[in-house]
Amino acid sequence: MANSTKLSKIQDAMFQEIRDHQLFTSAQSYAFQYLNEVFDRNVYPTEEALNKLTHFEEEMPNTSGNVQEILDNLHYYGSPATLPTLGGRYFGFVTGSSIPATLAVKSLSDFWDQNSALEVLSPISAKLETVVENWLCELLGLPRHTVAGFVSGSSMAIYCGLAAARWRLFQKNGWDVNEQGMNGAPKVRVVTGKHTHSTVLKAIQLLGFGKANIEWVEVDEQGRMVLESMPELDGNTLVILQAGNVNSGSFDPIEAICQKAHEVGAWVHIDGAFGLWAAAAERFQYLTKGMELAQSWSADGHKTLNTPYDCGIILCQDKDALISALHMSGAYIVEGKRDGMYYTPEMSRRARVIELWATLKYLGKSGVDELVTNLHERAVQFAQNLGDQGFEVLNEVVFNQVLIACGEDEMTEKVLKNLQELRVCWCGGSMWHGRKVIRISVCSWATTPEDVDLCVASFVKARALARESELAEI
Ligand SMILES: *Cc1c(COP(=O)(O)O)cnc(C)c1O
Repeated sequence: MANSTKLSKIQDAMFQEIRDHQLFTSAQSYAFQYLNEVFDRNVYPTEEALNKLTHFEEEMPNTSGNVQEILDNLHYYGSPATLPTLGGRYFGFVTGSSIPATLAVKSLSDFWDQNSALEVLSPISAKLETVVENWLCELLGLPRHTVAGFVSGSSMAIYCGLAAARWRLFQKNGWDVNEQGMNGAPKVRVVTGKHTHSTVLKAIQLLGFGKANIEWVEVDEQGRMVLESMPELDGNTLVILQAGNVNSGSFDPIEAICQKAHEVGAWVHIDGAFGLWAAAAERFQYLTKGMELAQSWSADGHKTLNTPYDCGIILCQDKDALISALHMSGAYIVEGKRDGMYYTPEMSRRARVIELWATLKYLGKSGVDELVTNLHERAVQFAQNLGDQGFEVLNEVVFNQVLIACGEDEMTEKVLKNLQELRVCWCGGSMWHGRKVIRISVCSWATTPEDVDLCVASFVKARALARESELAEI
């Protein structure tokens, strides 16, 4: 390793740090300390921890710092202000945990720091992207010619699916949207359900379809698109379905709509951010039946599958459309067999596929099935036990989501606030058919039946506190 008097001061210091390893040992020891506590600690930072974040408010330093001090700062002030989503009692939004095998793999591949834009930039990433693409087709029962792009999350994956659809639907009308843009373009229709996820709307706005042009489909009490309310489809239509309603967890009638769309040549995209993984579990096959007739699908590794964050996947059986929509070129680009950037909007990209590969390799098909089924079972346990305690369960628990109300909106809000302040578990609020609800999303491999018992007890306590405060007000 370099050892010369010609080095700049900072360069010299950095080589020295590599030589003595101490910073990595420190980081690892703090990481293990975090891991040992994360399953039992308060699931939301304490007021004290939040207040201490002011520690980070400082001017940008003029000179280089001490790495040990940087690590100490993060450990003492940063770690208590994290959300322990790695543990088993965080149920906010739809937030996955991370399986241990993959955390370990990530620590190794972090040192590799690969750029997966091109095969020539990272042969290992290109290889794993090809392998995982095949595995996903098999696991989810998709056509074998389906291709995959590895992006940051479902927001981006949905964007890619809809961009591919846009390219193809215009191309069928003799219009090259890449060259000619949207001005004067032929009419393309967009059909989706009234409960479509807001990131679908974002993709629609980014791609210039225009939200005002959406043909909205009514939904039933579970949030599923109602077949009778579907407009006639044709070959110029983009239909967006969801596998997993972000509130109720319900699935659109995928088979019936995919068949209709297939007959007339409409493009179907399925937003399966957390629900697409249902296709990998025996018990939930009925929910995604027929989805292989769609053209594109999007999913997150970082939700149900429990990969670390920053793991979205676009799957598309129209490779030409996906690549044409996202293609770019430059004189310095060296093409390989598998160049990840042709399947994604970004050029430079971290090699997130390594974590996805490790998760699938560790779990195997039976492990994924077990993981997904377990999330469902814990959700059912929540619904049953909370129901027994007199809470209202507002949805059919078909997957991992549970919607809870406690009478009037005002009471539900108070219970939620108390629940969050008790910090035994953390759930978010939402609206469901005009009512305030507490939303439980079971998304972590680590949630045990005992965790659910503890959380149900905390719900009961939160309600008792809310009733007490109501009495005190009278
Ligand atoms: C979370 C979610 C998204 C957005 O995914 P990100 O990974 O957060 O970008 C889209 N659709 C549904 C149904 C989701 O649950």
